[in-house]
Amino acid sequence: MLGATGALAGGASRIWAIPDEWRQTLRSGPRLETWKMSTCGQCPAGCGIRVRLVDDIPVRILGNPIAPVNKGFTCPMGESGLELLYHPDRINQPMRRKGKKGENGWEPISWDVAMKEISRSLQDLRKGKQLGKLGFLMGDRNTLLTEFAGEVVSRMGSSHFFPWRSPAINELGFRQGTEDFPPLAFDLPKTDYLITFGANLLEE
Ligand code: SF4
Repeated sequence: MLGATGALAGGASRIWAIPDEWRQTLRSGPRLETWKMSTCGQCPAGCGIRVRLVDDIPVRILGNPIAPVNKGFTCPMGESGLELLYHPDRINQPMRRKGKKGENGWEPISWDVAMKEISRSLQDLRKGKQLGKLGFLMGDRNTLLTEFAGEVVSRMGSSHFFPWRSPAINELGFRQGTEDFPPLAFDLPKTDYLITFGANLLEE
């Protein structure tokens, strides 16, 4: 399936589609099929996936049968990963706040500019002995990168490291009065029913 449309209120609207320029490539190319093995990055389970490519363009995601975590299965979120990849609202480069905080104005900037700005801000904090103001929010990962980032933040003199789904980020959400954060803790011993998708948390 190279694209999909769906009928929404008010008429037919595109849900997701391979970008136009890539669709042109698919129409005119030799349609060579290849498969790449990879890891789903949409949650910390890290299921093994196979990605079908036509002329080097990803068109389908399936589970990898020899991956020890998921043995060929994926959850619906993993299998629909291309919707995330091709979603027109996907943020695929750094965004800098434009205007005042709370106005929700953002402008795209290059990675070079972003790295320079971050570096300058960190140096300013260090010079002003204000590294305690440094906060680091990390995405949905549970890897060595999480350990590494936490170590860097702590060695810089801040205790404000918030990896996603940690008690710390729940506390941050609580303090900021937002409601869209996950529960404060998972109490497995008192759980009657546990439903997981794509990975058996109790055996793997
Ligand atoms: S459980 Fe689903 S979202 Fe998580 S890594 Fe596996 S396929 Fe991806």
